Amino acid sequence: MFKKILIANRGEIACRVIKTAQKMGIRTVAVCSEADTRALHVEMADEVVLIGPPAAAESYLDIKKILEAIDRTGADAVHPGYGFLSENAVFAKALIKAGVAFIGPGTKAMTVMGDKIESKKLAQSAGVNTVPGDGRVIKNGKEAINVAKKIGYPVMLKASAGGGGKGMRIARNDEECLDGLARASSEAKTAFGDDRVFIEKYIENPRHIEIQVLADNFGNTVYLGERECSIQRRHQKVIEEAPSPFLDEATRRSMGEQAVALAKAVNYASAGTVEFIVDGDRNFYFLEMNTRLQVEHPVTEKITGLDLVEQMINIAAGEKLPFAQDDITLDGWAIEARIYAEDPFRNFLPSSGRLTKYRPPAENDAVRVDTGVSEGGEISIFYDPMIAKMISYADTREQATATMSLALDEFYIQGVRHNIGFLAALMAHPRFAEGRLSTDFIADEYPDGFHSQDLVPDDPKLLVAVAAAVHRGFQERASLISGQTTGRMRVVSDDWVVLLQNQATPVRVSMNEGGYAVSMKGLDAEIQTGWKLGDPVFKGTLNGALICLQVERVDIAYRLYHRGGEVDVLVLNERAAELQMLMPEKEIADTSNLLLSPMPGLLVSLAVTKGQEVKAGEELAVIEAMKMENVMRAEKDGVIAIIKAKPGDSLMVDQVILEFE
Ligand code: ADP
Ligand code: ADP
Ligand code: MG
Repeated sequence: MFKKILIANRGEIACRVIKTAQKMGIRTVAVCSEADTRALHVEMADEVVLIGPPAAAESYLDIKKILEAIDRTGADAVHPGYGFLSENAVFAKALIKAGVAFIGPGTKAMTVMGDKIESKKLAQSAGVNTVPGDGRVIKNGKEAINVAKKIGYPVMLKASAGGGGKGMRIARNDEECLDGLARASSEAKTAFGDDRVFIEKYIENPRHIEIQVLADNFGNTVYLGERECSIQRRHQKVIEEAPSPFLDEATRRSMGEQAVALAKAVNYASAGTVEFIVDGDRNFYFLEMNTRLQVEHPVTEKITGLDLVEQMINIAAGEKLPFAQDDITLDGWAIEARIYAEDPFRNFLPSSGRLTKYRPPAENDAVRVDTGVSEGGEISIFYDPMIAKMISYADTREQATATMSLALDEFYIQGVRHNIGFLAALMAHPRFAEGRLSTDFIADEYPDGFHSQDLVPDDPKLLVAVAAAVHRGFQERASLISGQTTGRMRVVSDDWVVLLQNQATPVRVSMNEGGYAVSMKGLDAEIQTGWKLGDPVFKGTLNGALICLQVERVDIAYRLYHRGGEVDVLVLNERAAELQMLMPEKEIADTSNLLLSPMPGLLVSLAVTKGQEVKAGEELAVIEAMKMENVMRAEKDGVIAIIKAKPGDSLMVDQVILEFE
């Protein structure tokens, strides 16, 4: 067995790998860039090597620097995680040459599968169903249109080197086909240094279902069931689950067997994932094989009871798989939600900054949190904006969904924008509950983006009751303190008025054993809670039902967070409440005639000039941030009055790019 593993990665996946290595008694080496010197993976590892500046190209993607770190620390194996160098055969070859084990498959398998055109050919010859389309490299617009016509619209233009949902465009007509070719190849050129694009049939409303395979170096290959990853935004997974609510036993077996056949065809040895899209009739088509550990691997671990990182390490160390296909059983239901630093209300634009507060829920059999940050840590613009993954596990899908919802309520993050409210809305969506999933789910259900009215509607009585209880708690302490200093205890009133969104609700609230009793018109609430003053997470039961909200004091108000929503509540005595109701509402500054940069980034291009008339939906500018090009579009018709930034400018958040008349 290996003595020391270097993890050529960062964030949650580096932490994830370190955990298993520690469990196996193997020493670990972290590498880090200058942006990550205080990151969690650095803290967790036994040793650390600083490998360069924040930009990934000069640190985590720099093979020479990683080789030097191996040399310095004497690591005898490298786990690459996902992303970065995980699917880079040049890297794997360099390791082998240096006498260090690469914890992943052989380089031939990586090379073939890393290329969508090559892997499609191989899949066809291995008897795997593939998406219609011959997979030839498209040389120009004319050829694109010819091929698209032959396949029949809609089609998908795909970068052969693509990954992470990048370099991919749907086209429904010739015009979109030309535009898609240009965009897919330019995005692929920037992201992967390879602009080859091919065209295949676009399968409408498909599901994304993938098979986890595991293979050793002795010809033993098994599949560990499927994961459904249909809840995607722009072809990037948001929610994953295992098993799939859609597959029957026969389809599962048939997909599993094709996945194994494909793995065998490339002498695959390690953990790998064969991705398929599945149409409404359960026809399935090969998409690609990811020759690495996948972001969503924990859901498979939950239902199989296996540690995939441990299996990968054992296989790389030359061990045989300790089980055969028949030994594998799938138990229960697991759901994963990806928690991103992004603002769902601003078209999911990436957010960055310091995590002033960061407290994930406690882990147990039902809740797992794979995290790569800690309180005080930084979400930097240099890397992927994923903060953590949360996995819920239960006997049934319904229970796993409920567990996830509650755990999302408990997740306390301040300092950066995050998508927890969006994830909560997905969990509460009736269509999700029915399991009627498709990769268009998010686009179908939130056609103009995600807005506050899409949040899970809250029962105002719940908010009122919790605000009253919290207030009572604070009043009780204030009275205790003043009692100690003046010698005279102030008696805390039981009667208050709760102001929530201009509604005044009189409440009566008292403290009792283990909680509070709150009564108002229409509700007598018995709240049991271990909540203490200053605790941001208010967890407990209300008349026996589990509840979890977050509470912050903001001036004289309480800010409550629940199901991703946020609301300020005042708890006042009767007279103060009356006066408060007479206060004029604050005006919010009107920025509707400005185009503001929604994030820090680089202004790549401006599509408009002064005086130009634009229609809603037209492109205004392109901003690059977090490796993604974000197209800013006009929200309504208008005329450009002033342009305040030029291509090449680096923009701050909310910086004015242009003004409309
Ligand atoms: P998974 O298929 O495991 O869910 P994703 O497709 O979301 O993973 O990608 C996982 C991570 O790896 C993301 O951070 C993504 O940006 C990155 N990634 C995936 N493929 C590539 C690639 N070919 N080149 C660079 N980064 C990639
Ligand atoms: P990546 O390497 O970026 O993960 P994939 O080929 O795995 O690229 O595709 C990512 C997602 O794009 C899929 O999960 C699916 O939602 C969508 N997709 C890819 N190809 C097709 C297709 N031919 N028809 C419909 N959707 C597709
Ligand atoms: Mg994929």
